[in-house]
Amino acid sequence: MRDSLNNYEKILEEIEGIKKSVGRTDDVLLLAVTKIVDEDLVRDFIGYGVTDIGENKVQDLEKRIEVFGDSVNYHLIGTLQRNKINKIIGKTKLIHSVDSIRLIDAIDKRSEREGVVTDFLVQLNISGEETKSGFSEDELEGFVKHIKELKSVRLRGIMTMAPHVEDEALIRSVFRRARELKEKIQNDDQSLAMDYLSMGMSHDYKIAVEEGSTILRLGTILFGERNY
Ligand SMILES: *Cc1c(COP(=O)(O)O)cnc(C)c1O
Repeated sequence: MRDSLNNYEKILEEIEGIKKSVGRTDDVLLLAVTKIVDEDLVRDFIGYGVTDIGENKVQDLEKRIEVFGDSVNYHLIGTLQRNKINKIIGKTKLIHSVDSIRLIDAIDKRSEREGVVTDFLVQLNISGEETKSGFSEDELEGFVKHIKELKSVRLRGIMTMAPHVEDEALIRSVFRRARELKEKIQNDDQSLAMDYLSMGMSHDYKIAVEEGSTILRLGTILFGERNY
């Protein structure tokens, strides 16, 4: 237990150090990605001060909500199938993985029925890798136009993943582009609240902080390697 606390505090310090080195004074949220992590260990981390946890599968998020109730905020970071929307609407702080118009229309409809407004991020596939979901840059403008007509969902920012490579310059260019696109959307329409830039995982979070990430999605570096 002491080891995991030490490690957690070390990462928080590291993040603060990087922020300082690039002159950032805004907040960076550490989202603990708890995929298949033992429940007791998740509880330990909540005890250390973790306020937000993320899962990439709806059924796993549901289980966490059942166990941890109101003690943390919940984020869905993986693919959401339309037939599972009803299980999580009204229970998430943020859905990071909106990757189609059909999906956001369905989330809007369900949110309206439940009388809630659902905050979400648009997932961008900036690197154009076929294995990654998300909108291309070309599709983004049309998507933003579309969601402005919806009443029960609110676009809060962009989520993206850099390619899993050693090439830091390539990773950096993806993160930088995500930030530029977020700022462009915000500048084009001040009525939107584009507060979040969800980027950076265990292998690239330092670069992400340097490039302006406001939500780091960290799993392995907090909880160790897992097989999923
Ligand atoms: C698993 C996962 C993460 C965390 O990845 P690590 O490399 O373990 O930090 C972040 N984002 C998404 C979408 C994930 O599925």
